[in-house]
Amino acid sequence: MKIGFIGLGIMGKPMAKNLLAAGHEVVVYTHKQATIDELAAAGAEAGTSGADLASRCEAVITMLPNSPNVRDAVLGRNGVLEGAKEGLVLIDMSSIDPVESRKIAEECEKKGVSMLDAPVSGGEPMAIAGTLSIMAGGRKEDFDRFEDVLKAMGSSVVYVGPIGSGNVAKLANQMIVAVNIAACAEAFTFAAKMGTDPSLVFEAIKGGLAGSNVMNAKVPMMIEGNYKPGFRVALHTKDLTNALNASHAIHAPAPFTAQAMEIFQYLNAHDCGADDHDAMVKYYEELSGTTVRK
Ligand code: NAD
Repeated sequence: MKIGFIGLGIMGKPMAKNLLAAGHEVVVYTHKQATIDELAAAGAEAGTSGADLASRCEAVITMLPNSPNVRDAVLGRNGVLEGAKEGLVLIDMSSIDPVESRKIAEECEKKGVSMLDAPVSGGEPMAIAGTLSIMAGGRKEDFDRFEDVLKAMGSSVVYVGPIGSGNVAKLANQMIVAVNIAACAEAFTFAAKMGTDPSLVFEAIKGGLAGSNVMNAKVPMMIEGNYKPGFRVALHTKDLTNALNASHAIHAPAPFTAQAMEIFQYLNAHDCGADDHDAMVKYYEELSGTTVRK
């Protein structure tokens, strides 16, 4: 298939390379010419704008930071809709507000363009390995048509429901991860202040009901004092902003997410936006006057 790809950052670049490796024709566009050139050297065709990609491809994938970037790339000047012919499918793989996904899809419909929202879970290493978890919303027939394209980038590809459902699943994931990291940070700061070795507490409880993938990934980092991302505080702040906006829009109170958001705001205010989200422990260490770090 001939696929357009817009947004070749940390995630988009390896994802586009995996499409090429799976034998798809890929036409790329992003703001940086050097990145377009790099992908062209790897076998992609160079595009000049979103409109250009839309006029040449059966589907256009976007992998951009947030809702305004997707709006701009799709609905803006020289954007996807300007070049789209009827029947084009837009596959937005960015993590954005599902309310915005629905609004952008409505605009696309007016030009006969169908949209899937298909955000991903898993960071750069999984994007490189092609083992992302992909959660998709939109028309089932569009999902079926492009499932193999998605499978070139992910090892788990799940259809969740109508447009917006992919981002609902993604935000649910981000809410659970944030609250879970905060709970780990709170509990391990408590243990440290009690004078109990956090490493031994981790060994003692990780196999029980409190254990989780989040605990296994993040608590050893807290104990090492390792805040190298992984997943940055600033990006998680963006996701919780979208989660709170969407939940407020439908009056679904999210008090724990709101608490986690305030911890991220503290970290942003203290120059920790580029840290891994395990830096939530820094907030608890400051509050309690102790350190979890060995
Ligand atoms: P990134 O900032 O590295 O890349 C985004 C790219 O989009 C940049 O290269 C930027 O120049 C380009 N861009 C922005 N607006 C554009 C436009 N209008 N037209 C063309 N190009 C444009 O971001 P990323 O880490 O690759 O993340 C992309 C999305 O994936 C985000 O929504 C993020 O939340 C999500 N995500 C990231 C990770 C991760 O670990 N980095 C994991 C899962 C999901």
